[in-house]
Amino acid sequence: MTTSDARPAPRIDAGRLRASLRQLGRVGSYLDPATGLEGVNRLSLTDADAEARRLVTGWMEAAGLTVRVDAIGNTFGHRPGRDPDAAPVLIGSHIDSVATAGIFDGCLGVLGGLEVVRALDEAGVATARPIEVAFFTEEEGVRFETDMLGSAVRAGRIALTDALALTDRDGVTLGSELDRHGCRGPHPVDGPPPHAYVECHIEQGPVLARAGMDLGVVTGVQAISWQEVTIRGTPAHAGTTPMELRRDAGVAAARLTLHLHELAASGAVPGLRATVGRHDTSPNLANVVPQRVVATMDLRHPDDARLDRVEQDVERYLGHLAAELGVEITTRRLVRTRAVAFDDHVREVIGSRVEEAGYRSIPILSGAGHDAQEMATLCPAGMIFVPGLHDGISHNPREESTPEACANGVDALLRTVLALADG
Ligand SMILES: [Zn+2]
Repeated sequence: MTTSDARPAPRIDAGRLRASLRQLGRVGSYLDPATGLEGVNRLSLTDADAEARRLVTGWMEAAGLTVRVDAIGNTFGHRPGRDPDAAPVLIGSHIDSVATAGIFDGCLGVLGGLEVVRALDEAGVATARPIEVAFFTEEEGVRFETDMLGSAVRAGRIALTDALALTDRDGVTLGSELDRHGCRGPHPVDGPPPHAYVECHIEQGPVLARAGMDLGVVTGVQAISWQEVTIRGTPAHAGTTPMELRRDAGVAAARLTLHLHELAASGAVPGLRATVGRHDTSPNLANVVPQRVVATMDLRHPDDARLDRVEQDVERYLGHLAAELGVEITTRRLVRTRAVAFDDHVREVIGSRVEEAGYRSIPILSGAGHDAQEMATLCPAGMIFVPGLHDGISHNPREESTPEACANGVDALLRTVLALADG
C-alpha cells in the first residue's frame, strides 16, 4: 500500500540489480582455465566469503535495514512494518558458492531481496508486516559437507552444536571459522518463525528456457539420496589371471553405473534421476584387475516413498551383484533429504502476481536443494525460478541469466512480498 496516491508504484531497477550481482561476483573471482571465463570461488566462511558478507551487510545497512546475525552466521536485514510486532515476510538465499561458480546462484535471491527493499524505499511504500532479507551460512555444503546448513539449523533440523563442530578437509571447525571472521552473531538461531518465506533463484536447468517461459512457479523440491558404495575385489595380473577366477571391483562398479542409468533412462521409474558421479579405482593401473572402487550414487525423485523403494531395490541389486561377481559391497549414507511441497497459498500468490504482471510461467519442480525447503518446515514458503542461458548451466563460470530475466524474477518477488506483507 502506498503512503500517497501521487507516488509511483515500486519498480525494480534491472541495471542496479545487475551492477550489484557483478560487484558481489568480483569477490572471490578467478580466471577459470577450462572456460577462459571469470568464475567465482567463495566457499563458505573462507576469506572471500567473509569479504562478501561484509559487502552485503554494508549494502543492507545502507538500505536502512537493521542487521542481526545469529549463532551460525545467518544474517538478517530487518525493515520495519507498520505493525512492528507482526512476524516478517522473509526473503532469503545464500552468498557462498561452489569452487567453480557463476555470479547468480544464491546471490540473485539475496540481492533481489535487497533490490525489493530499495524499490520500496524509493517509492515510499510501507508495508503492514516487516520485511527481512537474509543470507544463510554454507548452503552449498562444499566446505563442511552439509547442504543448506544454516537454514537447516534455523529450521531446527540440525542442532547448532553439531553444526559448529563440523570440520572441513583440513580439520578446521565451522565454529572456529565463524569466530575467526567475527561472523558468530549474538542472536539465537531459533526464535519466532517468519510469516512466510520467499526465495528467487536461477533455475539451474534447461526447462524454462526450452519452454519459452519468463519464470517458473516452483511447486516443491524433489527428495535426494546420496550413498557411497565401496566395492572390494581382489587385485590380480591382467595377463595371467583367467577371466573366471577374477573378483573385479571395476566390473561391479561399471555394472552398477549402467543398472542405475537404465533404471532411470528407461522410464521404468518415471521421474527418477540417477547418477554415479564418482569412481575412485585402486590401484588404478592399466594392467591390474581393480581391487577396490569407491563410487557415489545420487538418486532423486519427487516422491519420498518411491525413492525409498528405489533405494531398497538398489540394495537388493547390489546383493545379487556381489554374489555373482564374488566381490564385497558396502554402502554408507551421505545425504537423504525429504521431498518438499511448497505451501499452496504462497504458490497461489506467486502464480497470480506473475500472471498479473504478464509473465509467461509454468509450475516447475526443483531438481536441486535450496534453503527454501528447510524454511518450508518452519513457515509457508515458496520459490520463483528464473531461466538461465546455455541450457541453464550452473556451478560453472558459464552460468548466465539476462538482466531482463533476473529483473522479471525480482519483480515477481516484489509483488509476492507486497501481497504477503499486506495480506
Ligand atoms: Zn543456490
